[in-house]
Amino acid sequence: MQSSEADSFLRSVTLVTGAARGIGAATARLLAGPGQDLALNYRSDHAAAEALAEALRARGSRVLLLPADVADPQQVARMFERVDAEFGRLTGLVNNAGIVAPSTGVQGIDRPRLERLFAVNVFGTLYCIQQAARRMGTASGGAGGAIVNVSSRAAQLGSPGVYVDYAATKGAVDSLTVGLGRELIAQGIRVNGVRPGIIETDIHADSGTEAALPEAARAIPIGRLGRADEVAQAIVWLLSPAASYLVGTTLDVAGGR
Ligand code: NAP
Repeated sequence: MQSSEADSFLRSVTLVTGAARGIGAATARLLAGPGQDLALNYRSDHAAAEALAEALRARGSRVLLLPADVADPQQVARMFERVDAEFGRLTGLVNNAGIVAPSTGVQGIDRPRLERLFAVNVFGTLYCIQQAARRMGTASGGAGGAIVNVSSRAAQLGSPGVYVDYAATKGAVDSLTVGLGRELIAQGIRVNGVRPGIIETDIHADSGTEAALPEAARAIPIGRLGRADEVAQAIVWLLSPAASYLVGTTLDVAGGR
């Protein structure tokens, strides 16, 4: 095999949403290396995204930064067009971008909050899968690929009194994983997911639940919170050929919770 053929055989092009920090950034770090093109989406934290990109380039990856709101289908479409233009054929997508909302009981949930949670966590995931499937699906001339959706253990535990609406968005993500896993495998695309438990990232500041984390950690069978890199390991494995027979499956990465 010529070296250029070998390069293209080994090359992968992965788009990670919400990649400027937390689980998305940990996933990008784990993927980085020669032949691993990384398209990193985030919403607004340019400084964090630039710093991450510099570290990943130093490890041999080509990196494309894509500030965009995944809740906006036009921004999502433009983001994928930029990946086409810069990197060529997409091979993987990690739908990681997600938001929570301030902790509240049911009466504190209003329409703007609900709309934003569903727009980012559910609509954004679906918009990205649509764009990815057009590129990876054999029905449109693609060569297949892998998609990983980042859900939450909240989908099954419900988060009573904290954010049942967020939990419901992740329940919807789980349904997308099952349904689109079964639909898109016919086009060579494996769709799977992960359900993280409580992971040490900045997201908890947005819900105001940080103070409760030490007590929450004691209730987890493994006795501690999870780390972003521990979730990233599962995501990267699901993207890889090692997970070739997993379709529509969501793995709990939650320390036994
Ligand atoms: P995080 O530290 O808050 O990071 C979220 C990332 O998503 C940031 O890069 C943020 O960009 C980006 N983002 C937010 N809204 C976006 C939008 N509309 N469009 C594009 N990017 C957007 O979160 P995390 O804890 O790593 O969580 C990542 C995923 O794991 C989420 O889906 C979350 O629901 C899920 N999860 C987390 C936990 C946990 O305990 N941490 C548990 C279960 C599930 P900016 O920084 O630029 O705003």
